[in-house]
Amino acid sequence: MLIPTEILPRDGRFGAGPSKVPADHLTLDPAWMGTSHRKAPVKDVVGRIREGLGELFRLPEGYEIALGNGGASLLWDAIPFCLVEDRSRAATFGQFSTKAAKALRANPFVSDPIVDAGEPGTALLPEAADGIDSYLYPQNETSTGAMLPVKRIGGPGALTIVDATSAAGGVDFDASEVDVYYFSPQKCFASDGGLWFAALSPAAIERIGRLTAQRWVPDILNLQLALDNSRKNQTLNTPALATLHLMLAQLDWMLEEGGLSAMDARTTRSSDLVYDWAARTEWAHSFVEEGHRSQVVATIDIDLPADEVSAACRASGIVDIDGYRGLGRNQLRVATFPAVEPDDVTALLESLSWVGQQIPRS
Ligand SMILES: *Cc1c(COP(=O)(O)O)cnc(C)c1O
Repeated sequence: MLIPTEILPRDGRFGAGPSKVPADHLTLDPAWMGTSHRKAPVKDVVGRIREGLGELFRLPEGYEIALGNGGASLLWDAIPFCLVEDRSRAATFGQFSTKAAKALRANPFVSDPIVDAGEPGTALLPEAADGIDSYLYPQNETSTGAMLPVKRIGGPGALTIVDATSAAGGVDFDASEVDVYYFSPQKCFASDGGLWFAALSPAAIERIGRLTAQRWVPDILNLQLALDNSRKNQTLNTPALATLHLMLAQLDWMLEEGGLSAMDARTTRSSDLVYDWAARTEWAHSFVEEGHRSQVVATIDIDLPADEVSAACRASGIVDIDGYRGLGRNQLRVATFPAVEPDDVTALLESLSWVGQQIPRS
């Protein structure tokens, strides 16, 4: 079964990470690739990324951008070492937030976290309580497509730490509401994997400095070493240069297009197309409760066999719309990151409607 070419999207990449990389960003300078990350040509790119992120996020005075190798997953292990004094509280409502909480519990040097757990398809902020020094939650739970506002939790002295991996760059937020806003570049930033980035507040920077001076921390997880290197526009160890190049290309595009509010409008428009399509399609149903539906990762339960729909799409060049494996639902998941053209989302939905007509109801 092949979808008629005249209704296909021009670009069929709708994966939630790695995600679509614009073709015109794949323009690597051969004289730049394969050169030292401790010399000006590469350091300049890192510096422009750090500055560009500060501008995109409208970072308040004293906030800094740090980066390092290992992706957002590395930060899950670094956070209990370098940011949690002793007791944290984390909200979990899907696979990624659950992994973040698991790393807090696994660390033998801090107390077990208090976990506020919600069912997949819901979203909840951790509850403020006495004796908590760090609050953690995802801005967008990529495994379920549930989104939360970025909001400071707890009183002075507590840090708010947000996993923004799939939201950063696609959803507007107020940076003064968060102390650690971390993400990987292979989602809204249309780059490749392997790196992590974090916007750090003065309070987070103070906490990192104090805890890493007191504790043994493996170098690769040491956020003070990451920050020291970041301030010199370097990384502790060798980064993937192509990832940096692609990140800067997307960041420049985002700023040219009008910054974070423009990206927010674009992802809202794309995701609304998906949710509106689900509302008028008999065999499709938005999975996430209203009010928490993500504008960057839309999840749709369907009454047709999802693996057949996905396979039919893949055969025609529409890829990676499968639901998150670990969630185990008969579901499609469509990333509406800034790099995805809203017109391509429209074409995707037309293609899905066409596939739906060919497959008998289960
Ligand atoms: C993709 C993702 C991660 C993991 O990112 P890596 O770069 O693979 O470590 C973590 N959290 C969220 C919310 C994600 O979407």
